[in-house]
Amino acid sequence: MGETVKKKPSLLEVAKSVPMNPSRMEVLVVTRARKVPVGYKATHHEYQRYVRPVMPCTAAHMTFGGKCLNCGYEPDAYVPNEHTLAGFVAEHRITMTTARADSNPNMDGSQNMDHWHVTLKHAGRRMTLVFSKGHGHNGAEPTATEVLACIQGDATYGDMPFEEWARDLGYDIDSRKAERTHNAVVRQTERARKLIGDVLWTDFLDARED
Ligand SMILES: [Zn+2]
Repeated sequence: MGETVKKKPSLLEVAKSVPMNPSRMEVLVVTRARKVPVGYKATHHEYQRYVRPVMPCTAAHMTFGGKCLNCGYEPDAYVPNEHTLAGFVAEHRITMTTARADSNPNMDGSQNMDHWHVTLKHAGRRMTLVFSKGHGHNGAEPTATEVLACIQGDATYGDMPFEEWARDLGYDIDSRKAERTHNAVVRQTERARKLIGDVLWTDFLDARED
C-alpha cells in the first residue's frame, strides 16, 4: 500500500524525575527520544495529518503506484516539520518557574545530577515535577522547552501497552519496576495532556525539539 516502515526513534537519553504532588510523590522516568530521525519518511497517516485534507484518507485513495489521490501522499514523502517546541512554548505562553532541589530521592543513580522543582503553567493550569539533569550542564537551569521535550518524548510512547512499551525501550517485561515506570509515564502523559489541553495536544506532540 506504499506505507513506508516507520523507523523507531533512537533513544538518546534517559532522564528521570519525580513529580511533586502535595499528597504523594511518585517516581517518574522520563525517556527522551528524538521524534523525527534524519531521513525520516512520513507514513500515509502522518502525511495526512500534516496536509489535513478535507476528507479523511482511506486505503481506497491509494493507487497501484502508491500515491494517494486524496492528500497527495507518495511513499517517499518527507514531512518537513517547521513547528518547533520552543515556538509552541512561546506561542501558547507556557511558562515555568524553577527552584533548586537537593535531591531526587526516588531516582536511581541521581546523586551526581542537579535537581529542580519545576512548575509548568499554561492557561491557568499547572503541572509540577522534579527535573534532574547531569552535571555536564554546569548547573544551568532547565528551560520550559527542555522539560516539555522530555514530557513529549515520554508521551510518544505513553499510549502503548506495557509489554510493547517495554520491548521498544529495552526494559525487562517481567520487571515490576519497569511496570511501575510505565504506569508513571502513562500518568505523566495524562497530567501533561491536562496542562496542554486537548485542542493543542496533537500540535504539542508534532512539534520538533530543535
Ligand atoms: Zn491520503
